[in-house]
Amino acid sequence: GGALPRPGETRVMIVANQKGGVGKTTTTVNLAASLALHGARVLVVDLDPQGNASTALGIDHHAEIPSIYDVLVEGRPLSEVVQPVMDVEGLFCAPATIDLAGAEIELVSLVARESRLQRAISKYEQPLDYIFIDCPPSLGLLTVNALVAGSEVVIPIQCEYYALEGLGQLLRNVELVRGHLNPDLHVSTILLTMYDGRTRLASQVAEEVRSHFGKEVLRTNIPRSVRISEAPSYGQTVLTYDPGSSGALSYLEAAREIALRGTSSQHQEASEGKL
Ligand code: ADP
Ligand code: MG
Repeated sequence: GGALPRPGETRVMIVANQKGGVGKTTTTVNLAASLALHGARVLVVDLDPQGNASTALGIDHHAEIPSIYDVLVEGRPLSEVVQPVMDVEGLFCAPATIDLAGAEIELVSLVARESRLQRAISKYEQPLDYIFIDCPPSLGLLTVNALVAGSEVVIPIQCEYYALEGLGQLLRNVELVRGHLNPDLHVSTILLTMYDGRTRLASQVAEEVRSHFGKEVLRTNIPRSVRISEAPSYGQTVLTYDPGSSGALSYLEAAREIALRGTSSQHQEASEGKL
């Protein structure tokens, strides 16, 4: 496909939701690949000790591999841990290893414990259009590091019962970090995932999310798709695993919306007490 407009400066997208299994990792790798396939230079930062984003991108992340743990805890330069993703030009990954599970505790006693990722990113010299940070399913120091390192929060919401439960807590955390550490932080993007248009529940949840939020919700919903869930076991995103599938096309469309929107401050209200 053709190139999408590239941002004037690096957009740092923090993919967060403290609920597990809502599609954070899937959204991270597939949006990142979509943008890279359309001419952007994109870095995925895997901030979940599970390392699912690293796996999905086919990136080696066994215990000896230099990883985001070394960056956060040891102060190692980000450039020393970043690996190129095979098959997708312009896509890179800073992998997570199992070490990262200890970082949540180890960070507590370090100086500038909330801003270590932000510092590492600010010193990274390779030109990038986007950084996507895949957060763990919690609101601890790893997620706080993510929230300090960027300005746009991307929230994937699974179209299921209880979809909005817990979101208030995430939004309050966004507010806290914005108030104390990162004035630019805002929820820029909400994406409905695992959408099954045949069920009434999915369309009800979608409607509820759209009425709570507004412009932040992307018009494109991501359908529930077997191809999307199969791709990671081949170390691929759905964009290369099955480019013509509905899952691939929906992530491309969502990425296009994100690229066309750019960074607009009209999206700030989403994080201001709607839940
Ligand atoms: P999280 O990172 O929030 O824990 P994941 O992205 O790992 O969530 O997704 C949870 C599970 O759901 C994974 O097994 C993933 O393959 C699957 N999944 C995610 N999105 C879809 C989708 N659109 N269709 C089908 N399966 C999906
Ligand atoms: Mg995940």
